[in-house]
Amino acid sequence: MVHFVGVEAMIKLVEAAGVQPFLKGLCLAIEDDFRRWPAFEKTPRIASHSSVGVIELMPTSDGDHYGFKYVNGHPKNMKEGLQTVTAFGVLSDVSTGYPILVSEMTLLTALRTAATSAMAAKHLARADSQCMAIIGNGAQSEFQALAFAAICGIKRFRLYDIDPTASLKCAANLAKYGLDITLCPTAQDAVAGADIITTVTADKQCATILSDNMVGEGIHINAIGGDCLGKTELHKDILYRSNIFVEFTEQTRTEGEIQQLPENHPVTELWKVIDGTEPGRQSDKDITLFDSVGFAIEDFSALNFMRRQALSHGIFEELDLIADLPDPRNLFGVLEPGNQGVHASRQPQAAA
Ligand code: NAD
Repeated sequence: MVHFVGVEAMIKLVEAAGVQPFLKGLCLAIEDDFRRWPAFEKTPRIASHSSVGVIELMPTSDGDHYGFKYVNGHPKNMKEGLQTVTAFGVLSDVSTGYPILVSEMTLLTALRTAATSAMAAKHLARADSQCMAIIGNGAQSEFQALAFAAICGIKRFRLYDIDPTASLKCAANLAKYGLDITLCPTAQDAVAGADIITTVTADKQCATILSDNMVGEGIHINAIGGDCLGKTELHKDILYRSNIFVEFTEQTRTEGEIQQLPENHPVTELWKVIDGTEPGRQSDKDITLFDSVGFAIEDFSALNFMRRQALSHGIFEELDLIADLPDPRNLFGVLEPGNQGVHASRQPQAAA
């Protein structure tokens, strides 16, 4: 049987740990996998674009496990009462090729994106950072705030969204976490006094959420929403003033903010900062930019981390996904009621 973690089980797993300890644990798991980056098979994700969105497959393997995520991005969905981003994922055992886990990943993607953002900021933002602006207060925003509070010690958050009800929702959801939250009337106002700026808006176009004059010396930018071809958030001039850090260069050149730059513009892969082979921030005056698009290794880490939690808490279901045959050559036998070759899990004596 294959383990299945659905939405209910994911909620229970996060509740069992507490959302911030879960984010901290996930951040450490992603950091461990970034340290062994060369051990992974890496390929840019496979994207299927339409005029309204994108559907993507994100595979990777470390030789022991293979994982992939199916994820969509449809900015217009919100107006139709649907989510912009939904996802599910699979982990398999490389030695048999059998899937071992199928999981919801809409919640898990929000958690892993926030944990990865905070991990990047831990290495790139000024150590004295206290205040973060969040521009775009939709589905990802609370996860981002809680990860930055738990992992980077950020205490003050300045929220802005073109839809004020999104900011109110975000502030209400964060109310019980003891954070200092300010609702701001404009993006310009939100970034005033911020040490870190997170842009997490959704629009399938090259937008200018941040213009050059909004970004001062020493800022760390966590750019989340520009994550596919033809979808960016930052004015190009900001990129020329920043030290740019990416997940997997080949994928980010097509999908990230750097799609606006020439192919040879220098960027640093974040794993090299984490394993100490490349410097991160070099001065308090640097502008550092994490040009996040989301990479398969983060989903792989998240699936493995979550699987360990699920097994230790016993929070999962069994999924009847693979025929379990007494004689593996007799697949046809599962179609014959009463036949000895029938699917083992349907035979009480075989299941016992
Ligand atoms: P969402 O639709 O729930 O929220 C987006 C919010 O942005 C909405 O509240 C909307 O009103 C606001 N917005 C749109 N244009 C704006 C503007 N000009 N100024 C201020 N606010 C604006 O989407 P979500 O699930 O929160 O995702 C946000 C973005 O993050 C999407 O583009 C998604 O593709 C991306 N994302 C990236 C990663 C990653 O790993 N980098 C992971 C998940 C999601």
